[in-house]
Amino acid sequence: MSAIDPTTGPCPCGRTDRRDKPIGYALCCGRYLDDFENTPAPDAESLMRSRYSAFVLQRAEYLLATWHASKRPASIDVEPGVKWLRLDIRSRSVLEADHAEVEFVARQRSSTGTATRLHERSRFVREGERWYYLEGDLQQPLA
Ligand SMILES: [Zn+2]
Repeated sequence: MSAIDPTTGPCPCGRTDRRDKPIGYALCCGRYLDDFENTPAPDAESLMRSRYSAFVLQRAEYLLATWHASKRPASIDVEPGVKWLRLDIRSRSVLEADHAEVEFVARQRSSTGTATRLHERSRFVREGERWYYLEGDLQQPLA
């Protein structure tokens, strides 16, 4: 079970509005996770954030659907004991109209209490109106 209330809770991805207030899940990643067919994430950062939220909410089907077919694994194991703590977007760059990179740090804690930082530079590609996660390079572990 997730502690996040999808109707009123802040979005797991931590996005804030112009006044630095947390944006609610329903107005942030929920738009994409809960209406995949009709509401594609409009840019690579939004897709990256929604995929983080999908990890938090254990929505494996969304992770697979937003993974580019050329790189998509057959299945995803969402580790039930992992607690995702926060996401920090470090940089985002649009390389061409249909290619973008997002660098992020995601913090998680395993069921045994071990804290981990996942630092990745992810590549995204757009096909039609939809962005897809292509693949990512793990960055050197942070000190
Ligand atoms: Zn979000």
